[in-house]
Amino acid sequence: MQTLASTQTSHDRHGLYPEAVTVEDFRRNLASVQERIDAACRRAARDPAGVRLLPVSKTKPEASLRLAHAAGCRMLGENKPQEAYRKWEAMQDLTDLRWSVIGHLQTNKAKLVARFATEFQALDSLRVAEALERRLQIEGRSLDVFVQVNTSGEASKYGLAPRDVPVFIQALPAFSALRVRGMMTLALFSSEAERVRQCFILLRTLRDQLRDSAPAGIGLDELSMGMSGDFEIAIEEGATVVRVGQAIFGARALPDAHYWPDESNPKEQAR
Ligand SMILES: *Cc1c(COP(=O)(O)O)cnc(C)c1O
Repeated sequence: MQTLASTQTSHDRHGLYPEAVTVEDFRRNLASVQERIDAACRRAARDPAGVRLLPVSKTKPEASLRLAHAAGCRMLGENKPQEAYRKWEAMQDLTDLRWSVIGHLQTNKAKLVARFATEFQALDSLRVAEALERRLQIEGRSLDVFVQVNTSGEASKYGLAPRDVPVFIQALPAFSALRVRGMMTLALFSSEAERVRQCFILLRTLRDQLRDSAPAGIGLDELSMGMSGDFEIAIEEGATVVRVGQAIFGARALPDAHYWPDESNPKEQAR
């Protein structure tokens, strides 16, 4: 049996995934990602039913999202609230399609997210929690949320520092419209698999430490970690949600630094 430590990242395939242009392309890509999920689960002796695949459709046009839906996708991840809102508005006819916002949120966009999203994975400040709570109350809705943790130590990544998470979690019961499900992280974007794995181990360890002392109603079962280039490693380290874009939709036109806007660490981001 392959040892877990030998699992590599596949960031070098980024930019090579061909654009999915037919329902068949989407079916095939989804099946191949699912096979990779299943294989990682076998290595880690986990049940694949414990890993949810969240297809990430950011930057892709409405036509692609409709093909993904036709191929069976019922929830899509988007990282920019305005782009997500626009797509939701345009696709109201797909009544069973739900939306997960996985990128940084400014308080002035909370109104949008409160209106349409089912899930928000990038909660990292009480100001955003307050803004969402207020808007969700007005809408009469609630929202599944994940606390985003910066496990790579890169200044360019959003998310709470691990040491700030315990106090933050204790404050969350005040927001009754937010259903806290777990934590989310972006690993170091690196071909050094061992350093990537350390990010995922850090999130799982933090979750394990906090789960028992979490306030009533605050769930920390979910670990959202792993993307096209590193989701196998994330699964080996306990991911329950993997966020996969390019391996399903095809490569994006621009490097990820473009979508994770802070330029403070261009070297890591350019890799
Ligand atoms: C874009 C994005 C992903 C998916 O990345 P891929 O390389 O397309 O799989 C995952 N998580 C977040 C937060 C993202 O912005």
